[in-house]
Amino acid sequence: MADTSFDVIVVGSGPGGYVAAIRAAQLGLKTAVIEREHLGGICLNWGCIPTKALLRSAEVYHLMHRAKDFGLSVEKADYDLAAVVARSRGVAKQLSGGVAHLLKKNKVTVVMGAGKLAGKGKVEVKTDKGTETLSAKNIIIATGARARELPGLEADGDLVWTYKHALNPPRMPKKLLVIGSGAIGIEFASFFNTLGSDTTSRNWTAPRARLPRTSRRGARPRPRSSTR
Ligand SMILES: Cc1cc2nc3c(=O)[nH]c(=O)nc-3n(C[C@H](O)[C@H](O)[C@H](O)COP(=O)(O)OP(=O)(O)OC[C@H]3O[C@@H](n4cnc5c(N)ncnc54)[C@H](O)[C@@H]3O)c2cc1C
Repeated sequence: MADTSFDVIVVGSGPGGYVAAIRAAQLGLKTAVIEREHLGGICLNWGCIPTKALLRSAEVYHLMHRAKDFGLSVEKADYDLAAVVARSRGVAKQLSGGVAHLLKKNKVTVVMGAGKLAGKGKVEVKTDKGTETLSAKNIIIATGARARELPGLEADGDLVWTYKHALNPPRMPKKLLVIGSGAIGIEFASFFNTLGSDTTSRNWTAPRARLPRTSRRGARPRPRSSTR
C-alpha cells in the first residue's frame, strides 16, 4: 500500500466505524478504515438488514395464506428456503457495496484485513497479501460485539446455531428453541415460526458466577413467551 500514515485509523467498518471514518474524512483528516470481513459490519451484513429481508419474505408468505381476505387467490402458497436466503444475502451485499461507495466518495482508504494494535499510534494489519503496519495520530476501535457462546451449548452450525447460522440456515428446522427473547431473538422466532417451524422462545439469564449482580433465583433459563 502506498500510504501507511494517517490522521485517523478506524478499526471496524460497522455503523460505528464507517460513519466515524466518513465524518473524519469530511473534516479534512486523512482517514483509513480497516475491516476483516464485510464493509458495513454486522448490521448491514449479518444483522439489521438481512433479518428484515427474511422477515419481509415471511410476511409475504403469511399474507399469501390470507389472500382471500384481500379478495385475491393463491393456488398453493409455498416457499423456497434457499431463494428466501439468497434474497436476504443479496440485499445485504447491495448495502455493503453502498458503504464501499460512500467510503470511496469521501476518500477514505479501505484496508481489508484484521487489525491489531501494535504500540502507540500503530496498527498491524494482516491482509491476504501479508502483514503491514500503519500509523495514525488517532485510532478509533469500532470492532463491535460477538455472539455469546453458552457453556455446554457451543454453536456447531448443525444442532446449535448463532445468528449467522440462523441467517443462512441449511434447512427449515421442524422444532426450534430460540434462546434470548430480545428484539433479535423474537425476529428469528417470528421468521421460523411463520415458515412452519414449531418455535419456542425463551429468555436466558446468565448464571450468577458469570454476572455477579444477578440473583441465584435468576440463574436458570426462564420461559417468557411462546410464539406458536
Ligand atoms: C441478528 C441481528 C439483528 C440486528 N438487528 C438490529 C436492528 O434491527 N436494529 C438495530 O439498531 N440493531 C440491530 N442489530 C445490532 C447491530 O447490528 C449492532 O448494534 C451494530 O452492528 C453495531 O455496530 P458496530 O459498528 O459497533 O459493530 P459491528 O457492526 O459489529 O461492526 C464491527 C466490525 O468490525 C470488524 N472487526 C472486528 N474486529 C476486527 C479487527 N480486529 N480488524 C478489522 N476488523 C474487525 C467486524 O468484522 C465488523 O465488520 C442486530 C444485530 C444482530 C446480530
